[in-house]
Amino acid sequence: MLQAMNDSFKVIDALADGEKLDVLQYQTLIEAMTPELAGYAADIADKVRRKIYGTDVYIRGLIEVGNVCRNDCFYCGIRKSNSMCERYALANETILNCCAEGYKLGFRTFVMQGGEGAMSVDAVCDTVSQIKREYPDCAVTLSLGEYSRDDYVRMFNAGADRYLLRHETADKEHYRKLHPAGMSFDNRMRCLHDLKDIGFRTGCGFMVGSPFQTSFTLAEDLAFIGKFDPDMCGIGPFIPQKDTPFGKFSAGSVQQTLFLLSLIRLIKPNILLPATTALGTLSPNGRELGIKAGANVVMPNLSPLSERRKYALYDNKLSTGTESAQSLALLKESVKNIGYKIVTARGDIKK
Ligand code: SAH
Repeated sequence: MLQAMNDSFKVIDALADGEKLDVLQYQTLIEAMTPELAGYAADIADKVRRKIYGTDVYIRGLIEVGNVCRNDCFYCGIRKSNSMCERYALANETILNCCAEGYKLGFRTFVMQGGEGAMSVDAVCDTVSQIKREYPDCAVTLSLGEYSRDDYVRMFNAGADRYLLRHETADKEHYRKLHPAGMSFDNRMRCLHDLKDIGFRTGCGFMVGSPFQTSFTLAEDLAFIGKFDPDMCGIGPFIPQKDTPFGKFSAGSVQQTLFLLSLIRLIKPNILLPATTALGTLSPNGRELGIKAGANVVMPNLSPLSERRKYALYDNKLSTGTESAQSLALLKESVKNIGYKIVTARGDIKK
C-alpha cells in the first residue's frame, strides 16, 4: 500500500519531467487520488505554469449567442427536446454591443458560444469579421459545435482565431451513452482534426463525473489530450439539469476536477486551461482552487443580462457575481488575493 502510494508521487514527478503515460498508467493514477496526492500534483502543476506564464491569468469575455440547438445531448439543458428551455438568439448588433462593453472592461478575447444553429454560418462569419474589424487587437474564439469542414474554413477566413469543441469523452462507447443516435464520436473527432488542420487554435475538453464515466474513460481523455496536443482544454464537473434525461444523476466531484486540471497542466505545460463556471458553481471558491491547481484562464460572462439565465446548460449555473464580466474588479481582487494577476491581453498560447 505504502509502496503504491509512493509510486503515484513518482509518477507525478515523471509526468512533470515530460514523460507520457499509457492509458493504464493514467487510470492507476486517477484511482490513486488522495488529498495528499492531489495537493502534490497541484503544487508541481503550479510551478510548471509559473515557469511559462508567471502568475498571469487570462480573461475571455464569454458571449452566449443563443440557446437554440439542433442537437439533443442527454446532459445538456439547451438540448433540442427540452421544451422547458426558453429560447433566444442574439442579433449581430447585440453581440457587437457586448464586445464594446467587454473591450472597455479590458477583455481582448471574445468567445462566441451557443447551441448549434443558433446563428447561421453567414451570420457567424459576418459577426466575426465585424468584431475583427472593430477590434483588430482582439482574438475571437468560437464554440458553436459541429460543422462541415467547409463551414469551419469560412469561419476561419472570416477571421476567427480559435475554436473550442470539447470532445466530451475520448471513449466511443461512452460517447454513445451521452448522445442520441444521430450524433457520433467519429464526427466529433473529425471536427477537431479539421479545426486544427485549418489553422484554428483548437481546444478540446470534457465533463468530470458525467454519467457512465469511469477511471478508464478519464484515462483515455488524458491520453487523448497528450496525443491531440490541443492549445486549450475546458474541463468542469458535470452538473445535472433537471429537465434532461440525466437530471437525476449526481454531479461530478470538485476534488477530482482539480486533480485532473493539475494532470492536464503536467501533460501539456503550456496549455491554456480555464477554471470553468461549472467549477465555480459547485464550490464557492472553485475558480480560485482551479487556478491554484494549474488553471490560467477564466471566462467571465459578457452576455446580455436579460438572456443569461436562459443559457441554462445545468441547474444553478452562475452568471452573476464574479462570473459576470461587469464584476471584473471583484474577480481581479480575488485572483490577486491568491497570488495571481488578471491581465489585459489576448492571452495566446506561449510556444
Ligand atoms: N454547442 C456547443 C457548445 C456546447 S455548451 C458545442 O457543442 O460545443 C459547452 C459545454 O458545456 C459542452 O461542451 C459541455 O461539455 C458542457 N455542458 C453541457 N451540459 C453540461 C452539464 N449538464 N454539466 C456540465 N457541463 C455541461
